[in-house]
Amino acid sequence: MRNLYLLGATGSIGTQALNIIRQTKDYQVIGITFYNNVCLGKEIIKEFKPEIVWVKTEEVKQELEKEFPKLKVYFGKEGMIDFALYEKPGLFLNALMGSSGLLPTYYAIKSKKDILLANKESLVIGGKLIMELAREMKVSIFPLDSEHNSLFQLLRKENKEDIKKIYLTASGGALRDKTRTELKTVTKEEVLNHPNWKMGEKITVDSATMINKGFEVIEAYHLFGLRIDQIDTILHRESIVHALVEYEDGTVLANLSYPNMELPISYALNYPRRKKTSVPSLDLGKVKDLHFEEMDYERYPLLKLAFEVLKAGEAKQIAYSASNEAAVNLFLEDRISFLDIEKIVTLAVKKDYPKFTSSLDNILKLDQEIKQEIYDRYK
Ligand code: NDP
Ligand code: MG
Repeated sequence: MRNLYLLGATGSIGTQALNIIRQTKDYQVIGITFYNNVCLGKEIIKEFKPEIVWVKTEEVKQELEKEFPKLKVYFGKEGMIDFALYEKPGLFLNALMGSSGLLPTYYAIKSKKDILLANKESLVIGGKLIMELAREMKVSIFPLDSEHNSLFQLLRKENKEDIKKIYLTASGGALRDKTRTELKTVTKEEVLNHPNWKMGEKITVDSATMINKGFEVIEAYHLFGLRIDQIDTILHRESIVHALVEYEDGTVLANLSYPNMELPISYALNYPRRKKTSVPSLDLGKVKDLHFEEMDYERYPLLKLAFEVLKAGEAKQIAYSASNEAAVNLFLEDRISFLDIEKIVTLAVKKDYPKFTSSLDNILKLDQEIKQEIYDRYK
């Protein structure tokens, strides 16, 4: 039995990870976190009996301490640091949403826990910091994002010098068949109706604006130490090919499966084994056609912006993610339109952040300031 810390246990990735753990029985869930969904959080505590839990507020902490006297409960920023530093070794699966994922990843690496990372935003705002710390602490970061999990598999036994280019595939999200003019009037329901994947609300909106693919470009840059000109994206409606790697000799390796996050999560949890999942065998005879289209970067300006912020440095990468997180919240609260998300992010990225110097605290501070400024503007 190995210990597993699961952050974001009540979310889309978190609950799928728990399903796999239920079946494999190889893991003891030693710690979980949840946020608003206290009801599901309690169910998970009853079933998986973790030693420690992190929750959103002191009130919930007190409630849990009464109900589960043996449980160690943390809350708030300091509590999250203590949770991540908890003395028992184990794998640290981070499936938190947004920039909240950075702090625990940072401290878990400090305490030498290997990371299974779903939370891509932490690499967008703190990729350099996280990767440097991981190298220093000799900790591995195993990507759960399907494209990066595929890339990990495609690059594993190859020489890095032989890579010519990598391609992240993109389904195009819920609005892929709409023109830019039609985007002006799309509703929240249309945006949240992803054709291929069932995921949390934020990443579903991010897929529709395609900033999700922009995040993934930055994520790939940090995880695999590639040059910016080695990373490209390609539209692929079916989401069956998750990533491609072209090597210097002209060979292209691809990773294929039906779109289902159970696969990358299971691969990460069972690595280097590949254990049975509920994902059916890929029947290419039935699938028949796989479509690919060159990415139209004008149709998806937020994806194009990813390459610009990568070149422009850390502060702009923070602005890119933070402004989007605030804008998506405003959109989900029906306070702005879909296209306002693009406007807000573009504006935030255009600004200069001359005083920024890189450190964990400064990254979190700038992230917070940018979000607050946007919330104040739309109050
Ligand atoms: P969900 O919104 O479904 O789940 C997010 C989890 O984080 C929930 O457990 C939620 O708790 C918790 N949470 C939300 N906000 C905070 C906060 N401010 N502080 C602490 N905890 C918080 O998201 P997903 O599972 O879809 O995505 C998680 C991460 O994985 C994201 O970074 C996403 O981009 C990435 N990812 C997701 C994929 C997917 O298929 N879903 C695919 C690839 C990557 P509660 O529910 O209790 O409020
Ligand atoms: Mg992905």
